[in-house]
Amino acid sequence: MRIDVDWTRCDGHGLCALLLAENLTTDAAGFPVVTRADVPPGAERDARRAAAACPALALRVIADT
Ligand code: SF4
Repeated sequence: MRIDVDWTRCDGHGLCALLLAENLTTDAAGFPVVTRADVPPGAERDARRAAAACPALALRVIADT
């Protein structure tokens, strides 16, 4: 599983970084910075929760094939 940010949608509120600290932090302007794209074992639920909470539908969780 990995995450992806659609930068054409992201409004930079930083909510995702609070919910998925394993993968995201924020820059000085509040936009997310992907520190690692692959979701570590045990963080899958947090990743899905962060994607569902994104008000701009900008954060996607992509399952491994
Ligand atoms: S929650 Fe969504 S809109 Fe907000 S910073 Fe994260 S990806 Fe961008």
